[in-house]
Amino acid sequence: MNYTESREQSAEILRTVLSHLGQNDAAFNPVSFALWYEHVAGINPDLTQALAPLLQAGTRLNDATVLQLFRAHIAPVDQQAVEQISGRIAQAMVGLAESALRTGDDAGRFGDQLSGLAEALKAGGVDALSPQLNLALENTAGMRSSAQALQHQVATSRAEIDQLQAELGRVRHEALLDPLTRVLNRRGFDQRLATMLQQPVEPGRSHCLIMLDIDHFKRVNDTHGHVTGDRVIQALGEVLRACAPADACSVARYGGEEFAILVPQSTLSQSAALAESVRQRTKALKIRNRKTQDVLLTVTVSAGVASLDAGDDAVSLIARADAALYQSKQTGRDRVSCA
Ligand code: GH3
Ligand code: MG
Ligand code: MG
Repeated sequence: MNYTESREQSAEILRTVLSHLGQNDAAFNPVSFALWYEHVAGINPDLTQALAPLLQAGTRLNDATVLQLFRAHIAPVDQQAVEQISGRIAQAMVGLAESALRTGDDAGRFGDQLSGLAEALKAGGVDALSPQLNLALENTAGMRSSAQALQHQVATSRAEIDQLQAELGRVRHEALLDPLTRVLNRRGFDQRLATMLQQPVEPGRSHCLIMLDIDHFKRVNDTHGHVTGDRVIQALGEVLRACAPADACSVARYGGEEFAILVPQSTLSQSAALAESVRQRTKALKIRNRKTQDVLLTVTVSAGVASLDAGDDAVSLIARADAALYQSKQTGRDRVSCA
């Protein structure tokens, strides 16, 4: 779904959205924002139709209803769209704050002028004009205070929106993490890979991909159970995080017991060395009985490393790293092979 409304249009929409948000009971989160935004902008006829009887009956929408409507008529909203909404809202708020500020300043100046004029007229003895001028001054004072109220309201809304954006950021980040290992999940991996492939390669360097797979993991599950199997996967996640510097690499759980490391602006031999360090640290890892601290088991990993060739895309790079991993499996496991 694309939001094509201009800055001015979206600022107009925003005012109505804020009023809807205020009149209902649901939280001010991106879900309810998106719901009201699409309704007010008139870009989602199905949603507007579903909302019509509720609005007519004066029903105050709670979180559950909002979520239900969102799921039925908006989801799946792609992340970019949610980001766009909140970005635009923030932009509109900045515009609104600026204009309110200007209104306040203008009213202030106008009031000062009128005060000066009243003083001058009094000094000149034209008493008859004084009541009218005083009235004008009162009105100006009213204008100034309403402008201040507007400024205050805008400031409050801005704080809410900042909070909303922070929440959105957290949710978006969380959506890209694997809950068991806290490294990137497959979706996060796909995004980072796409980003890496967009970056031009520096001279003498290449973008590299390491694929890793735990050896004979089925046996671990069969012998020690899935809970211990999960602990092994978790421990491997920690090994990867420890070996791969977060500022230079992206670690992801590619699936099941398979992990991937993206190493931008590297070389095949540097990435092979990184894979080798993961292999060694994994081999040295001891999974212990939590009570007795006795060593329960050790595991090994096999790895495949590929560097980006001219004409490569995400699919071909993954395929070559996978082929190298397969070679490691075929030649005895617990080793690193390069494509
Ligand atoms: P190979 O050395 O050839 O990789 O053998 P393998 O046994 O590791 O490979 P296989 O693909 O036969 O089995 C992988 C196993 O990993 C099967 C599956 O049940 C297990 N597995 C996948 N995801 C999880 C998980 O999240 N937790 C646990 N405990 N096991 C998982
Ligand atoms: Mg395996
Ligand atoms: Mg596997």
